[in-house]
Amino acid sequence: MNEREIKILTERLIPVPQNITFADGADYIINNGCPVTLKAMETDGITEKAAEIFKSYWNVVPAITLRNETWDKEEEAYTIDVTAHRMEICFAGLKGFLNAMKTLRQLAEVQRGTERLQEYFLVQCRIEDTPAMSFRGIHLCIFPETPLWDIEKQIRLAAYHKFNYAVIETWGVFPFESHPEFGWADVKIDKKELKRIIRLGKELGITLCPQFNLLGHATASRSITGKHAILSYNPSLQPLFEPEGWTWCLTNPKTRSILTDLVVELHEFYDNPPFFHIGCDEADNIGTCRDCRRKVLKDLVKDHICYFHDLLAARGARTIMWHDMLLDRSDPQWNGYIVCGLPEHQLSELYKELPHDIVIADWQYGYPKTKEEDPEPAWPTGKFFKDENFDVLVCPWINNEGTRSLGKFAAEEKLLGMLETTWNICHGPEHARIYATAAYAAWNPAVNFMTTLSTRLSVAQHMRQIGWDMGVNEYTLTGWNMYQVDAGHHPGG
Ligand SMILES: [Zn+2]
Repeated sequence: MNEREIKILTERLIPVPQNITFADGADYIINNGCPVTLKAMETDGITEKAAEIFKSYWNVVPAITLRNETWDKEEEAYTIDVTAHRMEICFAGLKGFLNAMKTLRQLAEVQRGTERLQEYFLVQCRIEDTPAMSFRGIHLCIFPETPLWDIEKQIRLAAYHKFNYAVIETWGVFPFESHPEFGWADVKIDKKELKRIIRLGKELGITLCPQFNLLGHATASRSITGKHAILSYNPSLQPLFEPEGWTWCLTNPKTRSILTDLVVELHEFYDNPPFFHIGCDEADNIGTCRDCRRKVLKDLVKDHICYFHDLLAARGARTIMWHDMLLDRSDPQWNGYIVCGLPEHQLSELYKELPHDIVIADWQYGYPKTKEEDPEPAWPTGKFFKDENFDVLVCPWINNEGTRSLGKFAAEEKLLGMLETTWNICHGPEHARIYATAAYAAWNPAVNFMTTLSTRLSVAQHMRQIGWDMGVNEYTLTGWNMYQVDAGHHPGG
């Protein structure tokens, strides 16, 4: 097989497997009765799952042989051997098997020479694959503007690209039963639909975890819009917030009791996942009401975070929090990197008093070059928390160089992983780059095709396959944008 052919086949895969070699010879035909050997350590339900996936991906019924074998690699790792008359897949259990099938779906091609699809085939290959980090997450926001079908597409795409966690931040739209006024009165999501997506994620190999902001961002709205999901309609709830409404009032015992109800309700609703994100970023006006400003802020915040950490730990969940309030932005060692603590907050020693099983989510959205001869950023904030014995998630956004570099950094430093953020920009031209770049960086940071045209075309094909899975047949639900032309630029706009 020549280099061009190898390049075409390799660039089709998002993320790229750790080791993949192709061989010449007759193709393996995926048709009814095609021989498939599965070697697994945990065999329960594997045959049924394999039959279901072959039907769904390729509409065939394969001849499956399942063997029970030991597996000494990581639980998400897998190997695939494809020759003309044989496909063999080895893995520990369901997680590894799902990863193998995702790779095969991306690699399979349709047979040529007919008008209509007759069958798919695979070129001969051997793949040995394992993830570079154990936590590969995507952070998704559900705004009042976000339809849940869009979230389903994003979850399906993230799972297809081998992300294994999705942190879901609902922006005032979750209909709390314990306190219905904690969100927009007139814009709520359909809980049944979100529950279906949580369960779907589990089926696809991605665990959905909730986020609720327990410090700043208490408005559940973007600060640049001046909106407040609770206070805009409920002025009587003002004592629970600092006077400007942006952060929760930490000295008010009612704040804690209500937040406890909200956190427990969310954690239960998500089927008690192993992580819960408590936010804690950009709490700029923290501790400003009469009662809070007369206390030592560090003690208030410590007590608050430790309380919720313990609450979640008792429920079997690890706390994730953003890093930025724990560092002082006037400290020159963070120059060029995102930190939000102000000198007057005096929170820069707080990390020493926090439980060290809190996962620090270090959001860095730029690409600060260290020096001209070695432009790779040093990422000192992530390194700092790692050295202080915290598990760290690197959290990039739309800067593709930054995402690539953070993936490399996380793998080299053996961090817990990556949490790719998307915020209000995860459609349009950024969409394919955000997903593909982060998927490359989190699974196999040594190979990152970044922004090549073929990457965008591959993501488009993956989105199309997802549309087939979902039975999409409406124009606005195809692709990653509802419309191709902006309002004002088409006849109806
Ligand atoms: Zn207060």
